[in-house]
Amino acid sequence: MTAAPFVVLEDVAKRWNGQLGVENIRLEIEEGSFVALLGPSGCGKSTTLRLLAGLEAADEGRILIDGRDVTAAPASERNLSMVFQSYALFPHLNVAENVVFGLKVRRVPRAEREEKLARALAITGLQGYEARKPGELSGGQRQRVALARAIVAGKRLCLMDEPLSNLDAKLRNSVRKDIKRLQRNLGITVVYVTHDQTEAMSMADKVVLMRDGHIQQVGTPEELYNRPRNTFVAEFVGAPPMALIRSSALGGFAPGQMLGIRAEKVRIAPAGQGRLACTVSESEFLGAETLVGLDHPEATGLSVVRPGLALMPPGEEVSITFDDRDLHVFDADGRRLEAR
Ligand code: ADP
Ligand code: MG
Repeated sequence: MTAAPFVVLEDVAKRWNGQLGVENIRLEIEEGSFVALLGPSGCGKSTTLRLLAGLEAADEGRILIDGRDVTAAPASERNLSMVFQSYALFPHLNVAENVVFGLKVRRVPRAEREEKLARALAITGLQGYEARKPGELSGGQRQRVALARAIVAGKRLCLMDEPLSNLDAKLRNSVRKDIKRLQRNLGITVVYVTHDQTEAMSMADKVVLMRDGHIQQVGTPEELYNRPRNTFVAEFVGAPPMALIRSSALGGFAPGQMLGIRAEKVRIAPAGQGRLACTVSESEFLGAETLVGLDHPEATGLSVVRPGLALMPPGEEVSITFDDRDLHVFDADGRRLEAR
């Protein structure tokens, strides 16, 4: 028998004066898992998170946390912590005071506060920074203070809304790993909002991809990458996105169908053996490999991955090939066709 999910959203909807926020949000989250809410700006990620937090009230549906129906419960009674994009630190308090602020409010005894503070600072690598004010810290350090504050709260559920988007790329990578390690070591459940597919794919056990207030697909990163349910998922997940080719360009497929192919499954064809004649649009040297973008009038997002430094001049004519078994077939409405 499997345990009941830790968090359940049952057909949750939120609208403002009839304008859609999110709709039909149906989601089950296992305890101890890392779930990413992913999608373009405005798709409803924050709304979903705020509904879960109790910062917005659902118009429809039910929300359960740890077996308890919290649909009507205020945020303070949902027993969770939150980390936001803006660190929401008190500028006049130092690091230690910021981290234990909530504990103080709840009148947790000093000895226990000190112990929790020391542990959270050790976990987040902030020892020695206790006396600094937020203004004397880098963006990454400030975000770590916000994390430390969430850790001392000791909640089993932590909600994070784009916590890394104020950091530069390099820092984002390192704090990303910190958060993942923390989540694993503490065994907590994290629901993490991001518009960055790399972040979601690298951190999450389960990705929830949203669009226009609706869930498009829920699955492991591999499932979304290898079996995208529709062309939106296919093009949103992966770098580069999946290329889409109209069936009319290939032959052997029904009219109106779209064929998807990943760059790593595309090969440059020996003379006379190609399936599509393309033109090189640009080449990007990425270090271990070179990504060559290709134009074809019946396709979008075509590219081929070549090992090492292998630039090709823009405008060069090149013929490509691929195996049928690597093609993803979508119907005219963009839905994946499974039976092949
Ligand atoms: P995301 O976090 O994915 O960028 P949001 O959840 O913030 O998206 O927003 C989803 C939709 O709900 C958007 O169309 C947004 O304009 C709308 N929305 C969010 N909050 C409010 C609000 N307080 N009042 C009216 N519309 C809102
Ligand atoms: Mg948002």
